[in-house]
Amino acid sequence: MKCEWCEQEGAVEVKKDCTWIEPAGKATVVVEQVPAIDCSICQDIYITDELTEEVEEALNSVDLEELGEAFSYEELMNAPRLSIFDLYKKESEHKGHSRASGACKF
Ligand SMILES: [Zn+2]
Repeated sequence: MKCEWCEQEGAVEVKKDCTWIEPAGKATVVVEQVPAIDCSICQDIYITDELTEEVEEALNSVDLEELGEAFSYEELMNAPRLSIFDLYKKESEHKGHSRASGACKF
């Protein structure tokens, strides 16, 4: 497949375990089996921006306490989303924290 960085056909999709650091520094979770891009030309493995956003959004809308500290990408995507009311509550609890996006580390 095509690499998003160098735009060469040297990339393959791999599954990587990824440590996700939440912006508030409150939680570090391990998301297993995240679809990542492994490019032989860039000699790097990375997660696309779209996927980063997708994971980020999911982490912000599921009950992380329910999932625990480690779960797979599949589990995260299939986890029930919190209701608007619960999210609002969660949001209020986090008031004062900046909402910069989290980051993934292999
Ligand atoms: Zn590349």
